[in-house]
Amino acid sequence: MFKFSTSKEWFEIIKHKDYLYIIRDRLDEIDPRFYTTYTNLYLLIGSHSALLIDTGCGLFPLKPIIDNIILDKTLLVINTHSHFDHICGNYEFNNVMIHKKERRQISKPRDIAFLRDSPKEIIKRYESSGFIVPPVKEIRPVIDNQVIELGNLYVKIIHTPGHSPGSISLLTNKNELFTGDTAHYGMMYLIKATFPIFLSSISKLLELYQKSVNLEIYPSHEEFAVGKDLLVNLSNGVKNIENIWETRKRDNFLEAWVLSDENFKYAVF
Ligand SMILES: [Zn+2]
Ligand SMILES: [Zn+2]
Repeated sequence: MFKFSTSKEWFEIIKHKDYLYIIRDRLDEIDPRFYTTYTNLYLLIGSHSALLIDTGCGLFPLKPIIDNIILDKTLLVINTHSHFDHICGNYEFNNVMIHKKERRQISKPRDIAFLRDSPKEIIKRYESSGFIVPPVKEIRPVIDNQVIELGNLYVKIIHTPGHSPGSISLLTNKNELFTGDTAHYGMMYLIKATFPIFLSSISKLLELYQKSVNLEIYPSHEEFAVGKDLLVNLSNGVKNIENIWETRKRDNFLEAWVLSDENFKYAVF
């Protein structure tokens, strides 16, 4: 009946490196009104533990896919922030880490009734639960500079607020930088009142290039393994928004102003 009927059909699984898998959730197939094709979930595999970065939309079971990759290693799970497209698979796991500023947002059932009138039939899968996604049982709050050890792999948490108050990026000791929704191509979701906070987070990420020129960026949406240009273009683009503000259009579903330049689309709240 549906184009997708199992987790294996739904998630696109890419073994990008020996220790890095990308599991792509299909936001466009859930609701094209977000102007976003993919949500990228990342799985980092260290010598004794693995770290899952984000849990996606929760439309299909994610845990069996992860278990099948990591086998008997210990699994840790972290959310880059609390927006629905990153956290709705949380309930499948025993505990989830998130920045302390967004702990509260993932502590209760998530109402995703706004998806009810999506043009995609597949969202009927949410009907059995009344468009309410249960929360994770245990939340482990994290803070800026905290390091998660996976054995030979280390992951440092960098607080990068702006897109949301508790948005984090994650930096590995092997030069991968996971930026969550703080920096990605495609449709960037921004809050006008927090532009200065957002821009200082982008500067904070750009400063990392002074210590390592070879960073590869893995955003939570759209293209991955991108370079520093993403951050430079985004910083310039956001600074230029006031100059193109006259070109904005109202999006009634998002309840935001939508604009675009040569690199990005922006939804501004
Ligand atoms: Zn977000
Ligand atoms: Zn997102």
